[in-house]
Amino acid sequence: MTDVDVIVLGSGFAGLRAAVAASATGASVLVVEAQNELGGRSRFSWANIMGAGTRFQAELGIQDSAEAMYEQYMRLNAFRLDASVAWALCAGTGPEIEWLADNGADIRGVVPNESFEVPRIHRTGGGQQLIELLLKLARAQGVDFALNHRVDRLLVEDGRVCGIEADGQTLTAKAVVLATGGMGGNNSLIQEWMPELSALAGDWVLPVGGDELAPYAQGDAVPLSAAVGAQITGRNYYEATIRPGYVQVSNPALPGHLLMVDATGRRFVDETAGIAAMHGAFNAAAAPVYAIFDEGAKTSYKPTGEKTPEGKPKRRLHPDWVEDVVDAMVEKQHFVKSDSLADLATQLGIPAAPLLATIDQYNSDAALGHDSVQLKDASVMRKVVSGPFYATEIRLSSIGFTGAGPRVNAQGAVLDTKHQVIPGLFAGGECAGGLAGPMSIGGNPTATCFVFGRIAGESAAAFAQE
Ligand SMILES: Cc1cc2nc3c(=O)[nH]c(=O)nc-3n(C[C@H](O)[C@H](O)[C@H](O)COP(=O)(O)OP(=O)(O)OC[C@H]3O[C@@H](n4cnc5c(N)ncnc54)[C@H](O)[C@@H]3O)c2cc1C
Repeated sequence: MTDVDVIVLGSGFAGLRAAVAASATGASVLVVEAQNELGGRSRFSWANIMGAGTRFQAELGIQDSAEAMYEQYMRLNAFRLDASVAWALCAGTGPEIEWLADNGADIRGVVPNESFEVPRIHRTGGGQQLIELLLKLARAQGVDFALNHRVDRLLVEDGRVCGIEADGQTLTAKAVVLATGGMGGNNSLIQEWMPELSALAGDWVLPVGGDELAPYAQGDAVPLSAAVGAQITGRNYYEATIRPGYVQVSNPALPGHLLMVDATGRRFVDETAGIAAMHGAFNAAAAPVYAIFDEGAKTSYKPTGEKTPEGKPKRRLHPDWVEDVVDAMVEKQHFVKSDSLADLATQLGIPAAPLLATIDQYNSDAALGHDSVQLKDASVMRKVVSGPFYATEIRLSSIGFTGAGPRVNAQGAVLDTKHQVIPGLFAGGECAGGLAGPMSIGGNPTATCFVFGRIAGESAAAFAQE
C-alpha cells in the first residue's frame, strides 16, 4: 500500500500536464512543488508552441503533417535524437494543441520561425493562462498539491522507484514523474552540462526572465535521477539569447542599427539574425563581441522604430538602447565611449585597422542600401559616423531552455546507463533528456512539456495500475 499512486515533482506545464493525464485515468496524484506557489517558470513563459497538422494551420491554408515535422526536426537536429522519441514528440504536438484549445486555451494564430519550412509556431494566451487552465482541470480531477517541498531524494526498493524524500520526510508512490524544469539558474550545472555555453557566458549566466526565475531552474532532475542510475543526456543542448551585460531580463533581438564585431574587428553575423543563427555565430566568433553605434543612433533610436509595411512592430525589441538608458549605462561603465573610432578600438583591445575597415564597409553598404557582408536587411542599417562612439559587450548568456536531463524513451520512462527502463520513474518537459537536440527551435520547449508531460503522466498511471 502506498501513500499515493503517482507523485509528480514540479508544477510547471510538464508537471501539471502529467498530473492531469494521470488523474484522468483514475490514479491518485500528488504534485510536489519546491516553491511556495504553483506554475513554475512556465507561468512567465510566452508559451508559443510548435505543432503540426492542426486545425489552426488548416484554417490558414497551411498544409502540414506530423511526418513532415518529424523529418525536419530530425534533420535540424542532425539526427542526434532517438527516432522513436522524436516521433512521439512530433506526432503528439498537433493533438496536444487541439486538446489545449478544446479545453479553453486561446490559440492566437500560427506564425513562421527561423527553423521550420512551414509556419508551425502556435501563439497562445501565454504561460499564466495555460497554467490556470491546467490547474482547473487538475483540481476538478482531485489532484492534490504540496507546496514548499523541494524533493532531495528518490526512494528505491527492489530496483523500483517507490517514493520521494524532502527535508527528511518520506512519501511512497507506485510511480514518480520528474517535471522539475531546466538548469538555467544553476551555474555549476551549466558549467558541467553546457560547457560550450558556459565558456561564452562566463559569469553572465542568467535564465530568460531574470534572476528571480533562477529558483525554478536548478536542474534537480539531474542529481535526483543520477542517484538512482539514470542516464543523463543532452550535453550542450540549450537555447540562449544574446544580451549586453546591463540587461538582466532578456533581449531576444538587438536593434538592427547595431554593428556587431568580434575581437578581430570583423562582423561575423547578421546582427538581426534569429536565436539559432546566433548560437552558431557566437560559438564561431572570437570573444569578446561588441555592439557599436554612434551618437546619432543613440539619440534617435526608438524601440518601436522598426515596423513592417503594415505598421506592426517588426521584432520584439526592448528599450535597452534608448538614449536615457545608454547614458545611464555609460555612467556605470557598461559602455566604452570615445570621440574617435581608433581610440574606441584601442579601448576595446581590437586591432584598429580591421575594425576601421569593417566600419567603412558597413557605412558604404548602408549608403548603398545593400549589406554586402552579412546580407542584413539594409533598411535597418545606420552609418556609424558621428562621434562620440559607443560600444558594449554582448554575450550569449540568457538561457531560455536547457535540454540535459535523464534520458527518456518514447513512453516517457527514464532509462539507465545501459538503456534499460528504471521501473517507476518517468520524466517530461524541460528536465527530460533526449527530447530536444542541438538545434534551438522556438516553440520546442513548450511542446516537450505538453506532449511528454501527458505521455509521462499516462505511463506513470498505467505503471501504477500494474
Ligand atoms: C520568459 C520566458 C519565455 C519563454 N517563452 C517560450 C516560448 O514562447 N516557447 C517555448 O517553447 N518555450 C518558452 N520558454 C521556455 C518554456 O516556457 C520552459 O521550457 C517551460 O515552461 C518549462 O516547463 P517545465 O514544466 O518543464 O518546468 P518549470 O515550469 O520550470 O517548472 C518546474 C517546477 O519544478 C519545481 N521543482 C524543481 N525542482 C524541484 C524539486 N526538487 N522538488 C519539487 N519541485 C521542484 C520548480 O520549482 C518549478 O516550479 C520561455 C521561458 C521563459 C522564462
